[in-house]
Amino acid sequence: MKPRICDFLPIPDLLKTEHVLCIQPHPDDLEIGAGGAVARMSRSGIKVTCLTVTNGSAGTKDPSVNQHDLIQTRQRETIKASGLLGINDLMWLGFADGGNLPYEEIRIGITRVIRKLKPSAVLVCDPWLPYEAHSDHIRTGKATAEAAFLAGMPYFCPSVIEEGFKPHDVDIIAFYYTAYPNTFIDVSETWKLKLAAIDCHTSQFPPDKGNLLKKYLTAKASEQAEKHNCEIVEALKVLSPGHLHIFEEAWQC
Ligand SMILES: [Zn+2]
Repeated sequence: MKPRICDFLPIPDLLKTEHVLCIQPHPDDLEIGAGGAVARMSRSGIKVTCLTVTNGSAGTKDPSVNQHDLIQTRQRETIKASGLLGINDLMWLGFADGGNLPYEEIRIGITRVIRKLKPSAVLVCDPWLPYEAHSDHIRTGKATAEAAFLAGMPYFCPSVIEEGFKPHDVDIIAFYYTAYPNTFIDVSETWKLKLAAIDCHTSQFPPDKGNLLKKYLTAKASEQAEKHNCEIVEALKVLSPGHLHIFEEAWQC
């Protein structure tokens, strides 16, 4: 059998971590991508923090919507949804929404939060999702992957070290919105909470759009659960940060 890096460097168990820093490009991504798993982790006593990279200011097709009002609305929606999932620790980087994220700045911002909070795991959208067109997602996922891999090195993002935050090694990086899942988390007991959390984002999901999304998510998660002898799962890609460099078959682990 062909040697694979995950046979030498095992896939870690996300449900046994102590503190997970969940990172989302926009308000609502975490609920859609991993709301059930997050609620399950919170219930089991794992500390959960949510960091939102953008302020959600581009989340409308209506040019008459006031962006300042929209930002406030999306913050309120996020606080309500996070409360349902058991997340009480919310942080914001506050970058403008809409596809123009400055990569180096968000990499520094995410590294600062990792070094400040010292989470054992990081959960973010998968930047290697095929056909992902939104660069906020690609840049947030890549900057987080890079920070998770390198935040323990003192010469990576040195400006953050100069601020007084020491290097910190993360043990686990997990991705939602992934095409290459390797971990299927039974979320039968928290699925309703996930759907209710999505419903909190009324500025993004009027009933028709929200119902379509929830039906799709439920059908997909039910189909994936069949192989795992449970009712419903969320599919994640879970890796050690060490998998994130030079290993050609890491995407298959
Ligand atoms: Zn998004």
